[in-house]
Amino acid sequence: MDVLLLGVVKEGYLATGIPMIKITRCPTCGSKRIDKVRRDWFGSFQGKSYAVPALEFHQCPDCGEELYDRVAMRRIESSSPAYANRRRQKKSA
Ligand SMILES: [Zn+2]
Repeated sequence: MDVLLLGVVKEGYLATGIPMIKITRCPTCGSKRIDKVRRDWFGSFQGKSYAVPALEFHQCPDCGEELYDRVAMRRIESSSPAYANRRRQKKSA
């Protein structure tokens, strides 16, 4: 479950509809020292960068992996140009 979620995020697709999960272990290195952090988060979409201020997410101190729970993903979505475009384009392709 955690691994799936991470894969989705890493590919740049922010999935919705995933039930809230508790992140306790790093899916990349297996570390159990996942920290919850809050800081400005920067992403990019089609060459455009965007920021999510004071985003709360989890980070593995051992390998640096960043993990986003559903709340964090929601915030990223709401700031992402990808989702802004989708909202604007109401017509189906
Ligand atoms: Zn790790």
